[in-house]
Amino acid sequence: KSRIITIDGPAGSGKSTVSRELARRLGWSFLDTGAMYRALAFAAAEAGQDLADEKDVAKLAGRQNFEFMPKSEGIKVFLDGRDISSEIRRPEVTASVSRIASSPLLRSLMVEMQREFAKKAGDVVTEGRDQGSVVFPDADVKFYLDAAAEIRAKRRAAELEAAGQNADFQEVMKAIEQRDRADKSREVAPLVCPKEAVIIDTGNISIKQVTEKMLSELKE
Ligand code: C5P
Repeated sequence: KSRIITIDGPAGSGKSTVSRELARRLGWSFLDTGAMYRALAFAAAEAGQDLADEKDVAKLAGRQNFEFMPKSEGIKVFLDGRDISSEIRRPEVTASVSRIASSPLLRSLMVEMQREFAKKAGDVVTEGRDQGSVVFPDADVKFYLDAAAEIRAKRRAAELEAAGQNADFQEVMKAIEQRDRADKSREVAPLVCPKEAVIIDTGNISIKQVTEKMLSELKE
């Protein structure tokens, strides 16, 4: 039976980098479920779909072919064979995803895709907002990463700058707080810390230290 580790937490808590690094150390596959939500938001916007109309967006999701390929530098996302990995990180996509994330119908499609992916991937590290709470309640180990909003915003701003996009700290901070509110207050699958999760504050420790902590948890 293949094994599953879930990593949940708010935006900028370090989930993506840490889950990639943990998967690399273990030789497991990894899944960035935020990339799935982003890919659907991007595809719908490009097709001129009204994101508020969940039935239309669901139809579009059924027509298009999404592929997710974990690579050492991050997940590669293809829409009908076209690489949209950098497009899905644009701020307008980030801002629009909550429309998708708050729809029960679209979430159920995403959950299906994620379980499907895990079935094929073997042992997997999967990260998002609902991986331990909803998608893989029987996961072998669950982690919850968190850090102060200010620290998470600083990280996001640095990432955006590294990607050549301008980033005003106050704006990034506001966007992070808005996203926290949306993720924690939505009716369906809000961001919660699963009861049995190991909580790690990533505020003042390095990626390497977080990964070591996780690996030591796994040994116990
Ligand atoms: O993690 P990332 O920033 O890429 O996620 C983008 C958005 O997708 C989040 O703000 C959240 O609203 C949504 N999401 C979700 N459930 C997941 C992963 C992401 O609702 N499992």
